[in-house]
Amino acid sequence: MSGTNDTERSTPGVLAQTSGAMLGNRIGGSSVFATRTFASVNPARPAEVLARFPDSAEAAVDDAVAAATAAQRTWSAVPIPERAERIAAVGGVLARDKAALALLVAREAGKVLIEAGGDVQEAIDMASYVASQGRGAWGTVHPSELADKLCWTTRQPVGVVGMITPWNFPVAIPSWKCFPALLAGNGIVIKPSEHAPLCAEAFAAACEEAGIPAGLLNVVHGYAAPAAALARHPGVRAVSFTGSVPTGRKVAVAAMEDGPRLVSLELGGKNAMVVLPDADLEVAADGLLFGAFGTAGQRCTSTSRLVVHRDVVAELVAVVAERAAGLVLGDPTAVGTDVGPVIDAASADRIHTMVGAAVDEGAEVVTGGRRVAVDGCEGGAFYEPTVLRGVHPGHAVARDEVFGPVLSVLEVGSLDEAVEVVNSVPYGLSAAVYTRDVNNAMRAVAAIDTGIVYVNAPTIGAEIHLPFGGTKHTGNGYREAGTRGLEQFSETKTVYLDYSGRLQRAQIDNRPPVAGAAPPHADREA
Ligand code: NAD
Repeated sequence: MSGTNDTERSTPGVLAQTSGAMLGNRIGGSSVFATRTFASVNPARPAEVLARFPDSAEAAVDDAVAAATAAQRTWSAVPIPERAERIAAVGGVLARDKAALALLVAREAGKVLIEAGGDVQEAIDMASYVASQGRGAWGTVHPSELADKLCWTTRQPVGVVGMITPWNFPVAIPSWKCFPALLAGNGIVIKPSEHAPLCAEAFAAACEEAGIPAGLLNVVHGYAAPAAALARHPGVRAVSFTGSVPTGRKVAVAAMEDGPRLVSLELGGKNAMVVLPDADLEVAADGLLFGAFGTAGQRCTSTSRLVVHRDVVAELVAVVAERAAGLVLGDPTAVGTDVGPVIDAASADRIHTMVGAAVDEGAEVVTGGRRVAVDGCEGGAFYEPTVLRGVHPGHAVARDEVFGPVLSVLEVGSLDEAVEVVNSVPYGLSAAVYTRDVNNAMRAVAAIDTGIVYVNAPTIGAEIHLPFGGTKHTGNGYREAGTRGLEQFSETKTVYLDYSGRLQRAQIDNRPPVAGAAPPHADREA
């Protein structure tokens, strides 16, 4: 390993690197550079290079896994409350630098400042929540079916965790994965998105500054090649992936090449808001504006479908369309900007193609539907907040993830029909129902097949102390955050302690085989 440059690797040092600096992979506590590099750019002005990073090959993954393996041996012997204290300290560094980090998120991921601050705040909250688990229950105690015997469960680290992350929560998602993994005693190699490497670098620098040991959290930058190598690396015991469904499928296949291991998949969504005739339409409109067009529609939980009762569709769509048309597109760091750019030109093209296909299938563009130029943001891929009416459940735009500021309106005549439409897609992340009738709300909560359901709140806005994840193609059963956040990063160990001083056999000799037979333990000495 070579090319260490310590000044770049402190948190303030990394935050200052937004003018084209060359940064390395973070392996074993050193910065490791490569000849092939790629640029991290500001999506609002793609000519503005923030920093350059290694376009890593598989060898970098080998080095990073070796470093994580070595560091994990020591870390797993650190008492859990002490691990928790280090994680809490990371939260302190993130809180100290919140404003600068939020600016970085806005510049690298294109999120408007208030949302960028929320991204960082999630990581701060996650540090505090995960740290609190360091003094919480670490297992369960159970009675035995035999006398003088006790049974319990505990957690043990898996070893080295490989993490592959998307760009749209570039500080929050690494924190959702790294903090529980560290608390559980693991080493980490993370391959962050090629669209947001500097945010990952700043997060890792904060961890190091707060005392997470060198080599425990390694960062390998690049595109698909190092990510795929990480997923199938024999030294990696668990793979934690967040991203799109097609990539998640590839990761799962790669991860199983070398035999079974833990693979957690947090994938895309096709989230719906149901609005019933008795709903408060103003509250629903507020929720739609935030859920559909926040983060330019690029959240896994973005409200992509409005499933609305035909009695109120005209009124609600008119309000939403008028307010959507008034949203200000612009530089995400500027005060007054409501919607930033989508992440790149290819995304804008994909979104526009999907809108065009919807129109070809019979949908009507009520507002939006165009790529637009923004003064001072040359080359930025801005897409107008778009509302499509007359969409049917079979249309591609109603079934596939758009991942852009496009709301499809689907009309229904009853709650049952609404639930059927909500459940008709292969995704199952988040849904919302707006009604003032508690009976209908509870029926919807029970019948909607998603991992998260909101009542009278939009499909975005998860809180970090509750489990997060989805059903069907959105995931494979794991949940991140909340009480289940440790599951994907730890193995459960079951322990039986027999203090009877003799052989006792469970399920064999502790029940009389027939009525009148000797009672259990009749052979035991008093
Ligand atoms: P993506 O799938 O394009 O990329 C995610 C990561 O996978 C990146 O780091 C990328 O470099 C890597 N990758 C690319 N090809 C790979 C391959 N062949 N093997 C292994 N890794 C590979 O996703 P994205 O555009 O960064 O993020 C958007 C997607 O993520 C959307 O579908 C969104 O819904 C989803 N997402 C889901 C959640 C969730 O918790 N369910 C959260 C955020 C985003």
